[in-house]
Amino acid sequence: MRLLRVCPPASRHGELTRITDAEISPILACPRCLAALAVFDDQLMCRGCGSTYVLRDGIPMLCSHEDFYYGEVGRPEMREILKDTRQSGWRAAMWHHSLRSESDYFLKYVTSPSRAMSKFLLSDFGEADVLDYGCGLGALTTSLASSFRSVIGLDLTYERAAFTELRAQQDGLENVSVLCAGDLEHIPLQQGSVDVVILNGILEWYPEWRGGDPHQQQVRLLREIHRILRPTGQLFIGIENRAALRYFLGYPEDHTRLRFASLLPRLVADFYSKAVRKKPFRNYTYTRRGYSRLLQKAGFGKAKFYGILPNYREIERIVDFSAPSVRAASLEGRTPIRRMRNFVLRPLLPSVIHSYGIVANCGETRSPSFLEELLAHLEKEGLCGGSCEAERFSSSPYTSTVHLRVLAKNERFVVRAPLTLHAEDRLVREREVLLEVQRSLSEPFRQMVPRVTGTGRLRGQFYSVASWLPGVDLAAEKGQILEVLPEVCDFAADLTANTRTPCKSWRELIHAQAKSAAANLFSASRQRFGGFEELSKKLDTIVELLRQDVPDTPGFACALHGDFWPGNVLVESRHVSGVLDWDWFQAYSAPGIDLLCFLAWDLGQSHNWQDGNEFVELYRGLTTPGPYTHFVGQFTSSVGLDRALLPALTILAWMHRVNCVLSDPDIFLAREVMQLKMADAAKFFSRLEQLGPAERRSAS
Ligand SMILES: [Zn+2]
Repeated sequence: MRLLRVCPPASRHGELTRITDAEISPILACPRCLAALAVFDDQLMCRGCGSTYVLRDGIPMLCSHEDFYYGEVGRPEMREILKDTRQSGWRAAMWHHSLRSESDYFLKYVTSPSRAMSKFLLSDFGEADVLDYGCGLGALTTSLASSFRSVIGLDLTYERAAFTELRAQQDGLENVSVLCAGDLEHIPLQQGSVDVVILNGILEWYPEWRGGDPHQQQVRLLREIHRILRPTGQLFIGIENRAALRYFLGYPEDHTRLRFASLLPRLVADFYSKAVRKKPFRNYTYTRRGYSRLLQKAGFGKAKFYGILPNYREIERIVDFSAPSVRAASLEGRTPIRRMRNFVLRPLLPSVIHSYGIVANCGETRSPSFLEELLAHLEKEGLCGGSCEAERFSSSPYTSTVHLRVLAKNERFVVRAPLTLHAEDRLVREREVLLEVQRSLSEPFRQMVPRVTGTGRLRGQFYSVASWLPGVDLAAEKGQILEVLPEVCDFAADLTANTRTPCKSWRELIHAQAKSAAANLFSASRQRFGGFEELSKKLDTIVELLRQDVPDTPGFACALHGDFWPGNVLVESRHVSGVLDWDWFQAYSAPGIDLLCFLAWDLGQSHNWQDGNEFVELYRGLTTPGPYTHFVGQFTSSVGLDRALLPALTILAWMHRVNCVLSDPDIFLAREVMQLKMADAAKFFSRLEQLGPAERRSAS
């Protein structure tokens, strides 16, 4: 469903062409009187009250203040981003913004797909029409579009609506429409025209720009939403809890930045806010009971409350309060003190959690959420060996997927669902990769790799089910790295030894690998940073250097995990229990890269080097006895690798690492990668050119 067809798809960025009545969706309504709209002289005109509304770049401006602006960045910067989005695409535009502003914050906020994980709490994937009220820059809108029949993004700020529209077009989402609205009496849609309304971080801001009693304003908005929803419709609200524990502990209230503001009676808070901020207190949030009453007042039926951790803007986990197994697993602690804290906190969690995700139904009947449907589907298909219950629902921002941990009779499983197309491609590929890896590894290492028990689609959503591996990741248990390093080396050695294929020449292998890594690096960095001649020259120098340093003797290639760092290695009872995330797996690579990447990470952590210098320091350290000497020796002798190759392999490992971060479209870093991960290391490695091969190996 498109609200308005303005120009044929072929000339999307072209001039506005004339529009006809037939191209206006019948669900659009006049925000003043709710009568139907017609086209008059390239404007929209109300058939009832005669009000006219302009179209700006094809976006209906159904508001009274077309110049309203709200944004995380200033208006001139937002306009620059919009211009750039038209020219170079929205991702590149955000990367460029990040370089200009020397901050990755906004980029991350706009591009991180994690926030969209709340969509799995809704029903009718594939069938429902959705309104994303206050869509901002479209992070949710675009993700919703891949799950539902159609999505309307509505925002009062033109620049944000326009960005969302371009973003959806550039991502090939044909089912997204955008509206500029929100400051008139009505939502400009007819009664009963959508199935789902999303109100993420909006309700508490709604009274900010409107007069009158804030509570009454919120009731009004919710009544409007109830009006446009179909009888079986659902409303999702992402919002703070008025009585969050952190507010009692003296953390500033999220909207006013005033301590204790939400806990005080409204009148006192208003007085306090006027005295300190010279502004009234209008960002009303509520307790669970308060939200229930508010929704009831607006005509909604019973609402279901979920807890969102740590908050609804950066969702990491969603807790279903009504599921005992989920509540039991909601807080997990590994130290006795944490366990004790959790024991006290767990029963209080529904009342003191920071954020809620509220699913309110128009009527009294509740349709099952996608998650509930998925569980029933898994049971029916026998993918978890019979009956199962959800235990933990979390997102992984690094892989843009959501993870649902399921407890079956005797076993735990992890069901994963991608949040982006790129993540879906990776999950689809992973099954083959894991089978191949399991065939290659010997016992007990085979047990450390997840076993995929099934993949499939439910209502168009791809999912993959795998066995769950116990343990905590080593990045969170840094203290244990040295202790389990022998096992980590053994794992890497087993994968290397069991997948090795002979090759004619080390020089040929390493040079070819470096050349393709450099080409990838260059094209990925050009996409993110525009032209970059200097980098190209440096990379050429580095590649040539590797050629000179590597002997032309017979060697071997092997498989590569590709993202081998402590965050992907699990430990349980002081032993390695799992190796996860095989997304970057390569069947044919130079040996040693995994281990060197792992060691560089650890070195960087213990000395606080994150700027690519961890690889420089690793390079320097390989020639002098150090904490890793023994382990590296253990690895090289067990796979039969000449130690003299290690410096060259370290440079290759660095190129590989930067490539992973830079060429992943779902990774929301630009400035950081460029300035921190690449610049200094590139300088150092290309400077080595001036030294002879022997000096290079001991360079400092
Ligand atoms: Zn009207």
